[in-house]
Amino acid sequence: MEKTSDFDPSLAADPPGGWPVPKSLYLHVPFCRHRCGYCNFSVLAGRDDLQDRFLDAVERELSELQGRRGELGEDRGEARDGRSRRSTMTMTMAPIELDTLYLGGGTPTQLTPPRLRRLFHILSERVSLAEDAEFTCEANPEDLTTETLTGLVEGGVNRLSLGVQSFDDAKLETLQRSHSGEEAVTAIRRAGESIGNISIDLIFAAPGETSPAWQRDLDTACELPIEHISTYSLTYEKGTEFWSRRRQGTLQPVSEDTDIEMYHASRQTLTAAGFQQYEISSFAKQGARSRHNSVYWNGHGWYAVGPSAARFVDGWRDVNHRSPTTYLKQVLAQGSAVAERERIELDQHAREIAAFGIRQIDGIDLQEINRRVGYDFAATIDEVVDRFVKTDTLIRCGHHIRLTEQGLLFADMVESQILD
Ligand code: SF4
Repeated sequence: MEKTSDFDPSLAADPPGGWPVPKSLYLHVPFCRHRCGYCNFSVLAGRDDLQDRFLDAVERELSELQGRRGELGEDRGEARDGRSRRSTMTMTMAPIELDTLYLGGGTPTQLTPPRLRRLFHILSERVSLAEDAEFTCEANPEDLTTETLTGLVEGGVNRLSLGVQSFDDAKLETLQRSHSGEEAVTAIRRAGESIGNISIDLIFAAPGETSPAWQRDLDTACELPIEHISTYSLTYEKGTEFWSRRRQGTLQPVSEDTDIEMYHASRQTLTAAGFQQYEISSFAKQGARSRHNSVYWNGHGWYAVGPSAARFVDGWRDVNHRSPTTYLKQVLAQGSAVAERERIELDQHAREIAAFGIRQIDGIDLQEINRRVGYDFAATIDEVVDRFVKTDTLIRCGHHIRLTEQGLLFADMVESQILD
């Protein structure tokens, strides 16, 4: 590792080994039946008439990405010295090689079966998946008809992420979900038989929810053929219906103590059932960790397509327009709907690797981050780490740091102080 005492990371343009070459793609499909009261994602509810235009836009955006990638591919060979970036501008339209592909939303399975087939056709022409690639599709339980499941399998999906949220009908109604608990169980069993690698999302701390009720959700999940579970405490995001109702006093959040009790119950129950917690909100059976999410947490590059999608490619973070209709207009007119473009400085890159990486239960290796960015980044956060070690929030073991049990509850604070 090259390091001098007067090294200034803000003057270094690139990591010594170059920026991570993306091998992952996120595609945001914004369609939903209706907008759930707690959701602030980029969603088009009840506008399935725009599905064909959306697929046209995805096709266009992926083609542009292929073109730019051709330029970058030529560029990379010249830029290893961290100085000027010159491109030979040879446009190649080779497929984008990927290790992970993630169709999220919104609800990808809100696309009609013929349109889902068209989406897979578009992807098959523009991306090339590695033999052992992880190909995840999000779905809602009520969408999993035989035709849709067959379409997903034929399209190459080998991991299904189901938005279950709960098995309790009253809680599902509170959350404004469209499925019943029984439908969720049936969908998991059917998808388990055909796709085999099932992840579910569960929400806890819904208004009126009790700890015994949450325990029933966890126990039901543990009896089903599920490989991966993500559990989230309900949040009241500004701009959502739930946020307004909470302010008006017509929706009562559960107490903070109950919220924490539910989180601990998740950890205990899922661990006892053979899941390993590997991130603050993520639990996986052996070999079933999300490879795609690990790319985000470890600061590797990724492509992203669709409204509100954010990509990190060659040291730039580009974020697409959040409004799906503006996204459609801009991509169809000019091939791009980038609303924000930010150059990521080397120091920021190092901080992000550490801040997002610390969410993982195994923690982070500061020496590895030093190696990736080419200077002693660990020294720049030494004081912050010491402070959190003293308050029993972090454990330091040589150049390795991780959250303590207590620290799991304060991860957001650790993240923000590392980023500062
Ligand atoms: S189904 Fe999911 S993405 Fe769609 S509105 Fe509900 S929470 Fe949001």
